[in-house]
Amino acid sequence: MRAGPSQEDIRRHNLGALLRHVHLSGPISRAELTSRMGLNRSTIMALTSDLTAAGLVREELPRETGRAGRPSLVVRPESARVYVFAFDVGPDRIAVARVGLGGVILDRRVAARRRGPFELDELAGTLSGVARQMRRRTRADTVCVGVAAAVSGGVRKGDGVIRFGPNLLAEEVPFGEELGRRLGLGLPVSVGNDANLAALAEHSRGVGAGVRDLVYLHGDVGIGGGIIAGGHLLGGHEGYGGEVGHMVVNPGGRACGCGSRGCLEAEVGERALLESAGRLVGEQYGRDAVRAVVDAADRGDIVAQEALSRVGYWLGLGVSNLVNIFNPEMVIFGGVLREVYLGSAAQVRSQLALNAMAPQRERLRLRTSALADDATLVGAAELAFSNVLADPLEVLARAGG
Ligand SMILES: [Zn+2]
Repeated sequence: MRAGPSQEDIRRHNLGALLRHVHLSGPISRAELTSRMGLNRSTIMALTSDLTAAGLVREELPRETGRAGRPSLVVRPESARVYVFAFDVGPDRIAVARVGLGGVILDRRVAARRRGPFELDELAGTLSGVARQMRRRTRADTVCVGVAAAVSGGVRKGDGVIRFGPNLLAEEVPFGEELGRRLGLGLPVSVGNDANLAALAEHSRGVGAGVRDLVYLHGDVGIGGGIIAGGHLLGGHEGYGGEVGHMVVNPGGRACGCGSRGCLEAEVGERALLESAGRLVGEQYGRDAVRAVVDAADRGDIVAQEALSRVGYWLGLGVSNLVNIFNPEMVIFGGVLREVYLGSAAQVRSQLALNAMAPQRERLRLRTSALADDATLVGAAELAFSNVLADPLEVLARAGG
């Protein structure tokens, strides 16, 4: 017979759950924690004093309550002391941030990059160099509890090896391992697909906060996605799930980078839009080029309007398939798809009316990303915090706190 969870297991679980509330909600009263977690007041008090002793949270009197009686203490994250490193390697930019508990961006550096493959050595060297500079500027009592990176491409579950993507020279790039070695923090580097992590970010602290079932679509050079089902990200067997950009919507259609034809990405991606709008010239690509098409359409440019309408047709078809399969409460358009959706919402909606089944469609909400360009970086930070939220004291002990 297997024994049930011990008192210690329960305490660890509750410590993590309490820290998660403080991390995601910000300063929160003990009374509110008591009601949200369904635990009694003395348990909440014991848990908060453990987390306070560990230096993860601090308690203080609220400023004004306006109510009579003894005010409930407010628990706030120690954002300046406990932090993670988050990295974002996109097709057009790289970003490094030091993010405090509670999701506060304490320090951030963003640099544009030229499209094309990267050299692992050079990239890991640049990223770790920036992180070291940031670390030198921190106070002596700060503690790094996690590291994670968002990359455009498919990442193998478990070891952070990038298997495919627009920026790769090799078939297997041991990105997590190399970055971890160069950082020398003694911490593993978690690596995730950028669209998956952006979905997680919107679900944790963006437009999808509190939504348990959502589909997030992310556009940059290609189209990626992340599916949150029942509050969890669907990664698939080996971590490559959620590649909604390679769902075929137009058999025999435009050639796709993956080798197939008529993928959502091939019909809706940046290249398709710019080509249809007659604007695929020279170095003019990326978000600004897409925005220029949407702006031109707004001003009455017929060619731009037709290009957006064409793209909206295929986007609506793709979204209809996803809605029928996953029955999300919300579909979120992020990255450059934010602008594309805003410029083609009528076509997307009419395709949904034609192709999505009524029960799935009736209460569906279509939204644009709240975190915008920060979604992938915020998602990497959330991934980096996941260990400390699962077992705060263990992680802190390991980090030397
Ligand atoms: Zn494809």
